[in-house]
Amino acid sequence: MLTMKDINKVFRTNEVQTHALRDFHLQVNEGDFISVTGPSGSGKTTFLNIAGMLEQFSSGQYSLDDIDIGSLNDNQRSRIRNEKIGFIFQSFNLIPDLNLFDNVDVPLRYQSLSSKERKQRIEHYLEMVGLSNRMKHLPSQLSGGQQQRVAIARALATHPRFLLADEPTGNLDTQMAQGVMELLEDINAQGTTIIMVTHDNELANRAKRKIQIKDGRVSELDVVVNQSAASA
Ligand code: ADP
Ligand code: MG
Repeated sequence: MLTMKDINKVFRTNEVQTHALRDFHLQVNEGDFISVTGPSGSGKTTFLNIAGMLEQFSSGQYSLDDIDIGSLNDNQRSRIRNEKIGFIFQSFNLIPDLNLFDNVDVPLRYQSLSSKERKQRIEHYLEMVGLSNRMKHLPSQLSGGQQQRVAIARALATHPRFLLADEPTGNLDTQMAQGVMELLEDINAQGTTIIMVTHDNELANRAKRKIQIKDGRVSELDVVVNQSAASA
């Protein structure tokens, strides 16, 4: 599904040059649930942003469903992103002056869906994350855990084949983190391919595959294959 070969990413700001990814390689298969761990500043977010086409890479090859991503222009990249990819960010990235219903609707507006279909999806996914009674609330009226659940509903409502999550439980307490993890496991069991960055080793071990990034490189590939998850 996804193949990265020799991906390099260099950030240049004034005097400073940061080599965030170095000869990064990875192959992701349909149905995978991959956890990504590694020290702060090692390139985890950069990798996810490149995988999700939010960021361009400096050199190397990236193909997604046999499409050569490096050869696409901005419009083509956005179209493929909207079609295939869902994002969950650590900081939720909800729009403060839109209620929950409208927040979940934002990415759906880029898909060719009727307003009836959009409404059904919004209600279905807000119910799935336990927030159906709060659809008219603003994000500021919710706890962090609830806001993250809205962000998850927003990502899932687009029916992405590929879900990218950057420390989705980073701002949550243990119990809420468990709930979010269970939600991701369910979605994966239903066929969505997931890559999740986390600093929580316990959660990382529940993935089917586990990779570690250090200094912009994959330092350990598939250290753990979670048999129970892989056969579930
Ligand atoms: P992680 O998510 O593993 O903490 P990041 O991918 O955010 O790491 O960052 C990797 C390296 O790239 C860090 O040294 C960081 O400072 C640098 N970096 C990330 N984004 C930018 C940017 N937009 N401009 C300049 N440097 C950046
Ligand atoms: Mg990060």
